[in-house]
Amino acid sequence: MDFDEIKLAESGYLMQTYSRFNVAVESGKGSVVFDNNGKPYIDFGSGIGVNSLGYSDPEWVEAVKNQAEKLAHISNLYYNEVQISFAARLCKMAGMARVFLGNSGAEANECAIKLARKYSFDKYGAGRPAIISLRNSFHGRTVTTLSATGQDVFHQYFFPFTEGFEFVDAGDIEGLKSIINSQTCAVMLECIQGEGGVVPLEPEYVQKVRELCDQNDLLLIIDEVQTGAGRTGKFLAFEHYGIKPDIVTMAKGLGGGLPIGACLCNEKLSGVLTSGTHGSTFGGNPVACAGANVVLNRLSSEGFLDGVAKKGEYIRSRVKSMQNVKSVRGMGLMIGIELVNGEAKGIAAKCLQKGLLVLTAKTLVRLLPPLTITFDEIDKGLEILGSALKEG
Ligand SMILES: *Cc1c(COP(=O)(O)O)cnc(C)c1O
Repeated sequence: MDFDEIKLAESGYLMQTYSRFNVAVESGKGSVVFDNNGKPYIDFGSGIGVNSLGYSDPEWVEAVKNQAEKLAHISNLYYNEVQISFAARLCKMAGMARVFLGNSGAEANECAIKLARKYSFDKYGAGRPAIISLRNSFHGRTVTTLSATGQDVFHQYFFPFTEGFEFVDAGDIEGLKSIINSQTCAVMLECIQGEGGVVPLEPEYVQKVRELCDQNDLLLIIDEVQTGAGRTGKFLAFEHYGIKPDIVTMAKGLGGGLPIGACLCNEKLSGVLTSGTHGSTFGGNPVACAGANVVLNRLSSEGFLDGVAKKGEYIRSRVKSMQNVKSVRGMGLMIGIELVNGEAKGIAAKCLQKGLLVLTAKTLVRLLPPLTITFDEIDKGLEILGSALKEG
């Protein structure tokens, strides 16, 4: 099929939930993808932070291939060593006690919400289900994770939404204090609001949230679906903040391209979700776990995360001096670019024409390149970005 045929078939057969860029991607190598005509594009988006090791990483492909040949799926009614060794590794790297494995970010957050509510139910009985989340947050697309998302645009059409979520502005510690009451069981936040426009929280604020949670026996849930798995230059973004959450969720980059989500908890919560209280048919799939194991290997290899931090600093410093850039924010390879004028969507379309994939978040151009991107690929991409920004 040529591009127009692909586009026509898409509009005929897929529910029209996405506004797609005008390109059909066929393959990838390193941090470059190729469209159906073989045209290359430097990828500064990595499938929204998913392809953490870039495309067709040889070690990742080998592990996934071998596992697909050996055992693609087995029910969680049985033990499987690949899944279990991955879980053990993940818990150690995250400094958490136990994990539940699912298939996406939304599912990881659903698990976090169930876990927080059951902890409270077990200890205090019914009537303490409320979770405070931040305005401008994003936690997923299921009915409950939409309810947890602090943006009114997501609270339409699908009524009734799940009850028990309240919102407060990021950074407003007094506001948070004032809405905590006898019904509150948890606070949920992203260290850097991703979909909200790459907005990092202040360390002092997050530390005060942790203190408030401790004082009121509230669980601190940190959504690291986007920031986790090395994206910010640490394995988990909360490591920049000098605190530890009770629950942390991960997904996007964790599998290196295959669907996997994780909800990790500390020792205090490790016995809360008991047999029959939660589950997933596909969760912890052996092929996804085999790929994720390679991601964990790579992230823990000597100097890898420092490299992510360095590449991020390099990109930010170069972008800062580009025309039409008002400010640059973010950490590691999670970068938001505020424009002086022009629309982020327009800049992204221009970049695409010139052979560069970038993302947007709200009014910002957003970059989430593969963590393995080379300086050569970065330079090529920045050259295109600079010229697209100049045209506005
Ligand atoms: C992407 C994202 C989600 C949702 O993940 P899905 O895999 O699309 O369900 C949740 N939280 C954050 C912070 C995200 O960036």
